[in-house]
Amino acid sequence: MNDPILVINCGSSSIKYALVPVGADEPRLSGIVERLGGHDARLTARDQRGKELTLELPRANHASALKTIFETLGGQRPIAIGHRVVHGGERFTDATLLDDAVIRTVRQMINLAPLHNPANLDGITVARRLFTDLPQVAVFDTAFHQTLPDYAYRYAVPAEWYDKHAIRRYGFHGTSHAYIAERLANVSANGRGGWVIAHLGNGCSATAVHAGKSLDTSMGLTPLEGLVMGTRCGDVDPGLPHHLAQRFGWSMEHIERLFNQKSGLLGLSELSNDMRELEHAEAQGHQGAKLAIEVFCYRLAKSIASLSCALPSFDGVAFTGGIGENSATIRARTLAYLGNADLTLSTSANQQLPRGSEGRIDAGQGRELWVIPTDEEGRIAAETRRLLEDLKRRDEVSAKIIEDLS
Ligand code: AMP
Repeated sequence: MNDPILVINCGSSSIKYALVPVGADEPRLSGIVERLGGHDARLTARDQRGKELTLELPRANHASALKTIFETLGGQRPIAIGHRVVHGGERFTDATLLDDAVIRTVRQMINLAPLHNPANLDGITVARRLFTDLPQVAVFDTAFHQTLPDYAYRYAVPAEWYDKHAIRRYGFHGTSHAYIAERLANVSANGRGGWVIAHLGNGCSATAVHAGKSLDTSMGLTPLEGLVMGTRCGDVDPGLPHHLAQRFGWSMEHIERLFNQKSGLLGLSELSNDMRELEHAEAQGHQGAKLAIEVFCYRLAKSIASLSCALPSFDGVAFTGGIGENSATIRARTLAYLGNADLTLSTSANQQLPRGSEGRIDAGQGRELWVIPTDEEGRIAAETRRLLEDLKRRDEVSAKIIEDLS
């Protein structure tokens, strides 16, 4: 069990991967194949010593890209593959060994995540065909949130939609929130208490966690609900799609695309979905960038305050994801809206925390504030390894029982 785990995150036109060794702090090989199917498809990777590798893979598909990924691992053979799967519905509450029956069930969930699960399944299918001798495990983005109570996960819509069609809030970014909850338990004396974790990347979500369990989260049936994101609108009036359809004659597919791809920071700023670029533009006087950032911070603050209602005790807030880890400005502007919540920032600790590092940034009285870099790949590898060890132990116990009986 000391060999590395290969983690695969398969999108429709990209495959992200990492070869994760046993030790959490050991360097790892990681890479991405982008623009799959295009004439300019390319693999870029960085090995354990930081050496970069670039390969042009014109017209590569999932199968040929996965083969190339394997070839670039050098002599290192993974012990198993851990796949990120976006939607596990109510069926999957934990990492699960992939077999034909599990794959059939994940396939049935495509209608819950039509944008994500098909690509995840493509990766799984190809990887199982190519690497028949390796155990393969699915780690679901939704699994961590299966502890939500019903009053947090039900929508106030006809009950039959849930009873017959599983329409409810599921939540996403589960591997990241679970990883941060576990880190908090290591770094803070109150780490097993009540926290709001803000994962702020291209996709953004906030989760209320108590005793390491998710009690509520900002994303819902799909990853569109909740916070303002790079290109996604987050919460809007549920009457808005109908209004747009009536007024402009737009189809639901068109509206869905606009909400997912042309809204959020990009839509508001009419400039970019990239927070770094917006901060730079705001400093140059760009009004759209200024408004986009203010809406982002205000909506995040509102979400943190409302998620605190889910917690038996409220011990602090942790920031993660590309924006949460790197932008002292966004953290400060968000917390400025939370003056009534006993969340007091240390301006110097916030500004002086080196980019991408872990640290405490509150003023010392009141609730704790932390910045913790996320590690979704590390968490997927750890869950894959834990499942395989559990299965091995179970096999050993069964073998012992059979031996004792015979
Ligand atoms: P992720 O999806 O976690 O990689 O996060 C991507 C987001 O993080 C993008 O909006 C980036 O602009 C943002 N980001 C990364 N570094 C910084 C930074 N130094 N300051 C502000 N935003 C950043």
